[in-house]
Amino acid sequence: MTKARQIPDSASGPVRMCVICRQRFLKTDLLRYTLTPEGRLCPDADKTHPGRGWYVCSDAACQEKLARFRPAKRRAGRN
Ligand SMILES: [Zn+2]
Repeated sequence: MTKARQIPDSASGPVRMCVICRQRFLKTDLLRYTLTPEGRLCPDADKTHPGRGWYVCSDAACQEKLARFRPAKRRAGRN
């Protein structure tokens, strides 16, 4: 099985990893989510929301899994 959506050689720009499938995509092809004070992930359409962001690709499977995705709290260090 070959994933169709790979980064083309001609692509340029920042690359981020989908937190679900761990493949790398152009940042512009990813959806950014940020954590609300209630601890829920919500889409950050403008990619301008401060704080840590989670990037998820547009794959339907990843979108579905994101609904059950819980961002792990870091044990050491605080950010
Ligand atoms: Zn993905």
